[in-house]
Amino acid sequence: MHMQDMTDHNEAALAAGRWLFAQTCTFVLGAAGPEQIPDSTLPEVAFAGRSNVGKSSLVNALTGRRTLARVSNTPGRTQQINFFNLGGRLMLADLPGYGFAKAPRDLVEQWTLLTDSYLRGRAPLRRALLLIDARHGLKNTDRKVMTMLNIAAVSYQCVLTKCDKLTDAGLQVTMDTLAVEVSRLGAAHPRIFTTSARVGIGIEALRVELAEIAAA
Ligand code: GDP
Repeated sequence: MHMQDMTDHNEAALAAGRWLFAQTCTFVLGAAGPEQIPDSTLPEVAFAGRSNVGKSSLVNALTGRRTLARVSNTPGRTQQINFFNLGGRLMLADLPGYGFAKAPRDLVEQWTLLTDSYLRGRAPLRRALLLIDARHGLKNTDRKVMTMLNIAAVSYQCVLTKCDKLTDAGLQVTMDTLAVEVSRLGAAHPRIFTTSARVGIGIEALRVELAEIAAA
């Protein structure tokens, strides 16, 4: 492929990403139990991560909305999977955060029941994005979720959040450490995204990736 072709391809991919995320994004519903998960045939991407990882901020940054996914630090509020329809092309499923230090046992059980039944039975789910705070790296709860994803045969991809908090060198160390672990796990996509919702790092690249999933 000629250099010019590469450039054209990248321009087209960037444009496709921008176009998709310029479409209207509408809240479909919040499913608090497995029976409330809506039927859908749209290609779907799920967002998963520990509470406070920056998931709402990332969804808002991608869609260019400030308040679409609520940015909240309140632990223990009703756990639900929030579905957003992006222009009739892609469904975004915002999974409840996990990993509260003081989560009561029934909350953890509710999370597991809801998430597990979603992951196992979701035919249109193309990929799960596993968000990881770049400052903290993988935690054991993330590893448990990776295992759940593997068992459910859902292909997933790691996305580092809050990368503005690290120096380039610090970020490289985090990436390298994560890459080693990810390479050992079958269902994990090898490419790791680096993002910051706050300063806009990696948002366009992630839009391109999601537009490719929507178009596939
Ligand atoms: P969620 O619980 O995963 O939905 O996380 P939120 O989106 O509510 O964010 C949790 C906290 O992290 C909030 O105080 C955000 O302002 C902060 N935060 C989110 N994204 C970023 C980011 O890219 N950089 C920095 N520095 N802080 C962020």
